[in-house]
Amino acid sequence: MSNYYNSSRKLHFSQLELEPVVRDLEHEFKSKGADSLGSMEEALTWYDMLLNNAGEIAGEFIAPRAEAVDEKGCKLEDGTVSWAQETQENMDMLAQSGYMGAMLERRFGGLAMPVSVNNIIVEMISQADASLMNLYGLQDIAVTLQKFGTEEQKQRVLPKFAKGEVSGAMALTEPDAGSDLQAVSLKAIEKDGKWYLDGVKRFITNGSGDVLLVLARSEAGTTSGRGLSMFLCEKSPEIVVRRIENKLGIHGSPTCELQFNMAPAELVGKRKFGLIKYVMSLMNGARLAVSAQALGIAQAAFEEAVEYANEREQFGKRIVEIPAVYQMLKSMQAEIETSRALLYQTGLAVDMMEIYERKAKAGEKVKTELRAATALADFLTPLSKFTISELANRAAYDSLQIHGGVGYMKDFKVERLLRDARITNIYEGTTQLQVVAAIGALVKGLFEKEMEEVRSMELTSLKKEQKEVISLLDKTLSAIASVHEMESLEFHDYTATYLVEMASILYRLKLYLPIAEQNPDKRNILKFFLMESDARIRYLENRIFHLKEQYGENIDRLKDDFLK
Ligand SMILES: Cc1cc2nc3c(=O)[nH]c(=O)nc-3n(C[C@H](O)[C@H](O)[C@H](O)COP(=O)(O)OP(=O)(O)OC[C@H]3O[C@@H](n4cnc5c(N)ncnc54)[C@H](O)[C@@H]3O)c2cc1C
Repeated sequence: MSNYYNSSRKLHFSQLELEPVVRDLEHEFKSKGADSLGSMEEALTWYDMLLNNAGEIAGEFIAPRAEAVDEKGCKLEDGTVSWAQETQENMDMLAQSGYMGAMLERRFGGLAMPVSVNNIIVEMISQADASLMNLYGLQDIAVTLQKFGTEEQKQRVLPKFAKGEVSGAMALTEPDAGSDLQAVSLKAIEKDGKWYLDGVKRFITNGSGDVLLVLARSEAGTTSGRGLSMFLCEKSPEIVVRRIENKLGIHGSPTCELQFNMAPAELVGKRKFGLIKYVMSLMNGARLAVSAQALGIAQAAFEEAVEYANEREQFGKRIVEIPAVYQMLKSMQAEIETSRALLYQTGLAVDMMEIYERKAKAGEKVKTELRAATALADFLTPLSKFTISELANRAAYDSLQIHGGVGYMKDFKVERLLRDARITNIYEGTTQLQVVAAIGALVKGLFEKEMEEVRSMELTSLKKEQKEVISLLDKTLSAIASVHEMESLEFHDYTATYLVEMASILYRLKLYLPIAEQNPDKRNILKFFLMESDARIRYLENRIFHLKEQYGENIDRLKDDFLK
């Protein structure tokens, strides 16, 4: 029996302080509905059961189908897109088992599950088949509609999501609007009180789905993000799938080019708030899901590598005993463990933000709390995606390396993992754009405030390690200050990646210290990660120092060699 709800996931799940979230979702346990939860204990038992069941479905049902899904991919015939049969079976299995609409309210047929718990399901599904997560994860469409749609839109669409009768798509990207979504030009035209969409969208995952959320220019003549609104657009003959992409990985999920020919649509929320409010919310949910997807891939790559390294013998011994091999395994293990702490806490931060959003909507005076919770979620979400999508790529790369020549062959799973990992640091905003989103928290002091806790933790077994973390924190804070002494904004941008990486390491150390304190079997991982972190922080600090010395305010000279 293969169950992906493993001991590490159980441990990190147990670390989540879910009580305020569950109390809010379950209306202080006062609801009388048949499927409402009556207490915190009941909720935790129920989530644990759902996770265990999802882990079993991922390990036993989805994983064995992943190779066929990858081989068959999706098809476009006579304008209709079809998934591989195994993908359909996977989706049917998830629907029959009640996982569709996991985060929707019960009145729409959902499970009212916290984001942080659903995240673990996404991670396990991705370990089994990363491409399936794109289809399952697109329930974010329904969650966004639940937040911002009208009651009529919600009643019409959400129950169908919860039953698994419809699938969704998020249509933002266009040929000339990728990272820069302010450049979106697909037109939204209002005629006799009704909206119609006209134009092209590119690279839309499951663009052939039934319910699309589309970013479009509703304010003719504008060029900025303020001229964009969000629209709900249901499948119709006026939306044509022009092609599906022939791509490197995630073959189970169709990537579509869409032509909208005056397709009927409905406004979601307020006009002109499409990009600045609704897409930011939608994308943050999707970024978290991609982080979970990436961690699932990293876990799969790690497990494949451990398995193979134990089987393969060279020079009269198993390769797992060779330092150059177990060095890679050790590094993967520490990165995955500490990144799991980051991912799960990011999910919790999003849950906390959503509590205050709901309270604010209900008229409660929680402006300060909402602002603080939003700032934290807005920092941790790109930090997670930055960290974990890069980790997935490194883990898949090293896992293939450990496999040697067979890793390059289709007979082994790791080549698929390498191909699937590659998209995670591109879509939902590239790694470089995650840096842009995360750096503000370092500049404005949120990171420093968040890290203060590490100075006052009362640890007994890991006092020495705590001191070392504090020393690394001080180095990182000095590096941030030294960059911001510079006038050149180009210097700030150039070094932002280094600073965000330093912040990611420190944040993970902060989260992992108490875990290792409480769990002696995790102390080796903490110590190994700390040792590697020390080297990495010093390296990044040095890099910034030398750049400053050598180029300083003239850093822009570095591009001269490439300008044509
Ligand atoms: C398989 C797949 C599925 C996708 N699914 C969807 C989907 O469902 N819905 C959807 O709307 N879109 C989707 N996309 C689009 C995806 O989100 C974009 O490809 C991605 O955001 C990058 O945009 P781009 O490809 O135009 O690259 P560009 O924006 O052209 O970027 C090119 C390079 O320039 C860098 N760069 C650009 N601007 C900056 C900056 N300001 N600072 C630093 N570096 C910068 C980027 O990091 C990148 O390295 C998908 C893409 C793929 C490949």
